Amino acid sequence: MSDDEPFYINDYIEIPDLFRSFETGKPISHCVDCGMPLLEEGPSYLIQKAYRKNEVLVEYAQCFNCYEELIESYSKQTMNKIWDFFLDSCDFESRKQKLLKEAPRDFGPWIENCLTCGKGKDEVASYTLVGQCEGPHLLFYYMPYMICEECQIRMQDLMSTKSRDIWDRWYEEHIGTPPVMEKDYTPGKVVLV
Ligand SMILES: [Zn+2]
Ligand SMILES: [Zn+2]
Repeated sequence: MSDDEPFYINDYIEIPDLFRSFETGKPISHCVDCGMPLLEEGPSYLIQKAYRKNEVLVEYAQCFNCYEELIESYSKQTMNKIWDFFLDSCDFESRKQKLLKEAPRDFGPWIENCLTCGKGKDEVASYTLVGQCEGPHLLFYYMPYMICEECQIRMQDLMSTKSRDIWDRWYEEHIGTPPVMEKDYTPGKVVLV
């Protein structure tokens, strides 16, 4: 998310269970990509967790350095299309203002509905939660948010074949074989800017 204002966030909470490791019940401790430890002094990082109802399909943390490196490897055209998709579907700034006012430290309302189509968690087959963290904290700013399966498929379809290949390779290398889904897509595959 590019933003010229100084990046200072004072609304945060301890990473809640929904964003913790399903296996250990603890916060995810290392970047899936470079292996950097994340819970002490480290860079900001993203957590993505894909759920089908209450079942966790995929979960990982990725530091911003690795995240930026990954999205820079996508084609400019792909990134522009995805940017447009996000901006056409969501007014990030007013969403942030509204939620910071109404629920500054309660992540529930932030992830209740799909960021881009507005459907509720119960109305969708699966969804991915995305959160921005620093050390042991989940920050409230443009994230956290939820994005549903259908919207992820729409985003995936905006990617060029080359960018999709890059993503698929990255995924297989770092996450492994994706879970089998009814539709052709990989859960947890959220590209955000
Ligand atoms: Zn990393
Ligand atoms: Zn949606």
